[in-house]
Formats: sequence, structure tokens, C-alpha cells
Amino acid sequence: MGLDISMPKPITVGHLVKQLKKYCRPTDIDFVRLAYDFAAEAHKGQFRKSGEPYINHPLSAAYLLSKIKIDTNIIVAALLHDVPEDTNVSIQEIEENFGSDIAIMVTGITKLGKLKYRGMERYIENLRKMFVAMAEDMRVIIIKFVDRIHNLMTLDAHSPAKRHLIALESLEIYAPIANRLGMGEIKGTLEDLAFPYVFPKEYKKVKYLRDNQLAEESIYLDQVIKTTRKKLLDDGIKVLDIHGREKQLYSLYQKLLLKNWEIDKIHDIVAVRIIVPDLTNCYAALGTIHRLWKPLKGRIKDYVAQPKPNGYKSLHTTVFCNEGRVVEFQIRTEEMHKEAEYGIAAHWHYDEKGKLKKVPTKDIAWAQELAKIQKEKLHNISDLESLKIDFFQNRIFVFTPNGDVIDLPENATPIDFAYYIHSEIGHKCNGARINDQMVSLDTALKSGDVVEILTDKNRKGPSPDWLKIVKTTAAKDKIKSYLNGAKRSWIKNLLPLK
Ligand code: MN
Repeated sequence: MGLDISMPKPITVGHLVKQLKKYCRPTDIDFVRLAYDFAAEAHKGQFRKSGEPYINHPLSAAYLLSKIKIDTNIIVAALLHDVPEDTNVSIQEIEENFGSDIAIMVTGITKLGKLKYRGMERYIENLRKMFVAMAEDMRVIIIKFVDRIHNLMTLDAHSPAKRHLIALESLEIYAPIANRLGMGEIKGTLEDLAFPYVFPKEYKKVKYLRDNQLAEESIYLDQVIKTTRKKLLDDGIKVLDIHGREKQLYSLYQKLLLKNWEIDKIHDIVAVRIIVPDLTNCYAALGTIHRLWKPLKGRIKDYVAQPKPNGYKSLHTTVFCNEGRVVEFQIRTEEMHKEAEYGIAAHWHYDEKGKLKKVPTKDIAWAQELAKIQKEKLHNISDLESLKIDFFQNRIFVFTPNGDVIDLPENATPIDFAYYIHSEIGHKCNGARINDQMVSLDTALKSGDVVEILTDKNRKGPSPDWLKIVKTTAAKDKIKSYLNGAKRSWIKNLLPLK
């Protein structure tokens, strides 16, 4: 499923306008038309590799945004997004015609001049620029996502090498950012479009496995949905929607890798999703399902009380249905559903009142942290690797004994945790308890673990071996700087001998 990327062919501005009429005021639509005319004029005579007129690309990006009913200013900026980079029209002219709000977004998405940097250096500089622009205005990354999605949809016109590069970058950089910002549908779309170009063989295999499973399960699932719907209604629960939701291919691939390709061990190839009006109905629905079918131990997940680090909220449970088959249910309110699909983009979504919501401060804080870190750390490709681990990898959340939530990358260790709390706790860390059990310091933490660090105030400091264990750059840096400091003070002690 993912984002609905179906598109009229050939696309025209009329298609976009038709879409906008569903949720915009006429004056906003006029503004969009103006931007279209301006961009079409600027790109006149330009063609894409596929032979299409260039304007079809920004128009398609704008069209994708209109499908998720996003604010028209973002759509205007999407229409203009390649104008300064690829035509003679400058940012100043865009500002004069469309105002500073639009000009700021377009500046953010425009790459650096072609002359200043080359090759890898240019690549890194462009990434840095994008991170900074994103921190200043989160709308930039939303445009970047649809730009990239449309580029992935039209990748076949490029050389195999370029295809691979664009697809790989989408998997490694853009999808993780979308994930981190809670934009589940956009992440899934980027991944599934890029997947066949990066791992063609695996793609075919996963698709084959999934299609087989779906064919086998579909009648059975229809029955489960029917039974569930009836039972929920009998219990007086308001159900806005109940449907089967297929797992996206790339995310299924990731799970298959973890489970040694044993597809029988994966229970959410199709999950049953239940949308209800409010929280009370969420928990009530969970109760109904558990009375109807026996839940699997340890598989009830309350992401409402404990949202995932990226803000994802839902109730999940896996139950034994008829014939001993195992089915996952996901229960959420409409609002949780929108947030889970569009993440921060939901904040520029035109809701019924046409009012715009505020972006959560934690997302802004994350983007600002990323912008700050890249300034100090992103110089070459290996820096990009560590940035990826710290910022883009799947995150886990663990607890301090006081119940504070700490958000760390997957496979982080108690030492990472200790350094996250405080450098001194890290340096003096001597042991750890996870959920009241003593563990070794290289144990990988899991979401939901309660972690207690044991310190020894007589401990001399971190062991150099810890550098091989820790996963976060912060812990690594603190250990290194301690060890370097220790070396220096050892040398200092020799100095008087001189
Ligand atoms: Mn573009």
C-alpha cells in the first residue's frame, strides 16, 4: 500500500486543480495556478531523460502532495522547487512573485551551485545543506520526499549506475529520515520504490513469498475481519474502519532477514487494522478481541501509553484465531492513524476546520540536533556512516529506574546508556542491571528495558575495549576524549623530568 502514487498520464495542471478543489479555497487554487504558469514558463523547452516536458516532474510532486491534502504553500513551493537550480530564474524573482515564505522553502530545497564542489565533496555538502534547511523549516523535507518519490517512479530513464545510486540513497538516507519523523507511508513508499533497484534478486523473492502468502490467506482474513466487525458492533464499539493491511515489501524483507527467511514466523504480513473514534473505544476493542481470541504471550503492545520514539501510537496484539492461525491486530483512533501515515506532514494537513497544527517540538529538536552535529562531524563518507547509526537507525526506548524514557539507537549497550545519562556515570560504569538482572556491559538493550547502571567511584575510567562495544557516537567521543586526556596527563607527569 503506502502512499497512493497512482497518477494520471499524461498529468496536467487540471488534474492538480481537481484534486485541490476537494479541500482548498478558490484563492489558494489561483495561487497554485500562478505558480504552475511561472514554473512552466521557466522550464519551457526543457525535457526530462524520459523525453517528457520537464514541468511534469514538479507538477507530479505537487500532485502527490495534493493527495495527502497538504497546505497549498507547500504545493506552490513544490511546483517551483527546481526553478532556481535548472533555469535562469533566480530565487529573488521567486520571492518578488510569491513572497518570502515560498522563497525560503525553495531556497532550502535548491542544491548548491555546480561549480563550487565536485564528486563526493559536493554530495556531502548538499546533504549538509539539506539537513540545515530541514532544521530551519521542516516543510523542506516534505517536498524533498515527494521530489524523490517521483524521481524513483521515473528511474528507468537513467543509466543503471545512476539508478542504483539514487535508489540506494533513498534507502539509506531519505527513508530513515521519514521513519524518524513518523511518516510511515512515505518511508514505505520510498523503500518499496527503491528496493528492486538496490536488491533486485531479493525483491523478486520477497514479492513471490508475499504474493503466495496473500493468495493463501485472503479468504481466511476476510472471514476474520467479518467476525471481528460483528463482535465489535455487538459490544457497542464504534468502528470507523476495519481493513487488512499488507506489510510493505522492503519492511517484510528486513524482517525475513531477521527470521532466517522463515515466512511462517512472521505474523503481520497482513495485519487487521481497526480505526475507532476515540481512546476509550481503542481499549474496548482490544478487550473484545481478547475475549474472542486468545492473545499470544508478550505480544500485546501498548504504543498509546508508550509511543515509539518516532511518535507512533497504536495498540497491537497478536492472537490465535480459528484453526490455530496467528493474526496481528492494530487498533488506533483516526488521529493516530493520520499521524502514523503522514507524521509531521499531518501538521500541514488541512483538517475540516482548515486550521494548521503545530509541529511537535521533539521533531524540531531532532532536526536541529542533526543540523548541529553535521556541522561538527560530517566531513566525509565514514562520518556519514556514524551519522546514520546515531540519527537514522531504528531507535529503541528504554527506561531509567525512575521511569524516565531514554531514546537510543538499536543495539545500544548499557555503556551507551550510561554515557547518555552523564559522562561521569559512563566513566565510572562498572556493571549494569537490565530488568533487575545483572548483565554484561556489551548486552544489546531492547525497547522497554529498565536499565540500572552500577558505578564504582574508584574506577580509573573507561576501558579502551569499550570503543568496540558502544554504538553511539556520543559515547565513543566521550571515551576517546577521556583516554586521550589520560594519555596527556600521563605525559604531563613526565614533563618535570625534562
Ligand atoms: Mn526535483
